[in-house]
Amino acid sequence: NFAERSEEQVSGAKVIAQALKTQDVEYIFGIVGIPVTEIAIAAQQLGIKYIGMRNEQAACYAASAIGYLTSRPGVCLVVSGPGLIHALGGMANANMNCWPLLVIGGSSERNQETMGAFQEFPQVEACRLYTKFSARPSSIEAIPFVIEKAVRSSIYGRPGACYVDIPADFVNLQVNVNSIKYMERCMSPPISMAETSAVCMAASVIRNAKQPLLIIGKGAAYAHAEESIKKLVEQYKLPFLPTPMGKGVVPDNHPYCVGAARSRALQFADVIVLFGARLNWILHFGLPPRYQPDVKFIQVDICAEELGNNVKPAVTLLGNIHAVTKQLLEELDKTPWQYPPESKWWKTLREKMKSNEAASKELASKKSLPMNYYTVFYHVQEQLPRDCFVVSEGANTMDIGRTVLQNYLPRHRLDAGTFGTMGVGLGFAIAAAVVAKDRSPGQWIICVEGDSAFGFSGMEVETICRYNLPIILLVVNNNGIYQGFDTDTWKEMLKFQDATAVVPPMCLLPNSHYEQVMTAFGGKGYFVQTPEELQKSLRQSLADTTKPSLINIMIEPQATRKAQDFHWLTRSNM
Ligand code: ADP
Ligand code: MG
Repeated sequence: NFAERSEEQVSGAKVIAQALKTQDVEYIFGIVGIPVTEIAIAAQQLGIKYIGMRNEQAACYAASAIGYLTSRPGVCLVVSGPGLIHALGGMANANMNCWPLLVIGGSSERNQETMGAFQEFPQVEACRLYTKFSARPSSIEAIPFVIEKAVRSSIYGRPGACYVDIPADFVNLQVNVNSIKYMERCMSPPISMAETSAVCMAASVIRNAKQPLLIIGKGAAYAHAEESIKKLVEQYKLPFLPTPMGKGVVPDNHPYCVGAARSRALQFADVIVLFGARLNWILHFGLPPRYQPDVKFIQVDICAEELGNNVKPAVTLLGNIHAVTKQLLEELDKTPWQYPPESKWWKTLREKMKSNEAASKELASKKSLPMNYYTVFYHVQEQLPRDCFVVSEGANTMDIGRTVLQNYLPRHRLDAGTFGTMGVGLGFAIAAAVVAKDRSPGQWIICVEGDSAFGFSGMEVETICRYNLPIILLVVNNNGIYQGFDTDTWKEMLKFQDATAVVPPMCLLPNSHYEQVMTAFGGKGYFVQTPEELQKSLRQSLADTTKPSLINIMIEPQATRKAQDFHWLTRSNM
């Protein structure tokens, strides 16, 4: 009856869990401790999946990948002070990538504030720089309101990270159930479309292009624009170039993909349509010498402030990429037209692709040992399941791997991204595995790591084994950062001197058996030195769906990329 009900109490922890559940949060990644353990337990009791990680940084990377893969924020739950500070890297990375994320941090008790409380830190202020929204609810009653606002802010407009601070004394505080009102689930973001006149102008610029190019960014992947963009490419026979995480929006093996002639395509295009890709360092700022000085950019983006960064665009289309692409299709459909497949531009691009592919293939066919990057990636590509997720980080490992490893599905590549962050790989792989298990069981996550990159979050292998996730880790091992030394050079070097005096800063211990990190926790480990061993171990790993594996692939410590026309960070001719 009413009198009884009105006395029923509920803890702050349960209110937080219920507020997250009401907002459709499916996954929490974190590390428990004072004061957030109860929150994790309460969330799990409501059916939210909890994945315990080994470092908050990796937990935060994982939660941010959930946002990119599902369009709703994953939660990263951390303890006060150092726990929250470890998560800042993940927040910055999510915000730079424009991925939704919700971080919930415990903080010290309100009545001990400024007294030097346990793990006290100005957390709301600290997070401001890394987020779109950072707040502490003023009472337990305000928690559902603030959590709804944080979830909404993370997915509306340009997606990004949000932070909600929970003082320790909230967690076990009991309040009357009837005093709590849960906000309704926040709807998906409203779909915005571009101005009609701008769409007409864009269509006319595209029709008049001599050397057009579409650039497909991770914004297009996030916007689920694959269907409309593929139609645009195919109907009008336009060459396209994916950015690293734009790979797979239209499959890499599509005949109109000019990824293998990237530099050439950028350098000589006269009209470029940018679908959710910023003109930052990844796209060389849109400036000469990497582009024509008078190239016309058509920018499609959901963020108005982005339009006009570094170049003056010919046309700006502000809106949701999928909706705007449909507008473009409608406009172009009005007059029959397609870009001539026999043009000189297509010929130039095809020739360049052929010669670049031949150069990579030649390097890949080298029989010398230790293997080079190209040999490794060609053998991996041969066995890569079409529907797998590819996670990758490392310098050469990521850059060369990207040119050889193909993506056939959108949102199936996760890498160091806009911020160039090393250490994201295992967290991303864990997030992708958890999502794949729920939504598309049977899919593999292939995580291609440099040996240095692997080290940043190597202990997450225990997490992978604990939850028995469908992950195959490939550690491409050159004994160092960029480059390393072989065992003999190493021994010679240390003969008369202390290691700290002579070991070059980029060197890591040669011949490290990273595969034993996997076997330590019950997974399968392989140490491979030849193409045959690589092929065999990968075949065995893919055949065994009961266990994760780590294949430690020894390569030439001094291996590098094939010759490039430009230095990757070139900004100008100066
Ligand atoms: P890449 O690294 O692939 O070049 P960026 O991260 O630089 O991609 O750019 C992604 C862009 O996509 C951002 O400017 C972001 O504002 C935009 N974006 C994100 N979601 C959408 C969407 N739904 N519709 C339109 N633009 C979007
Ligand atoms: Mg290395």
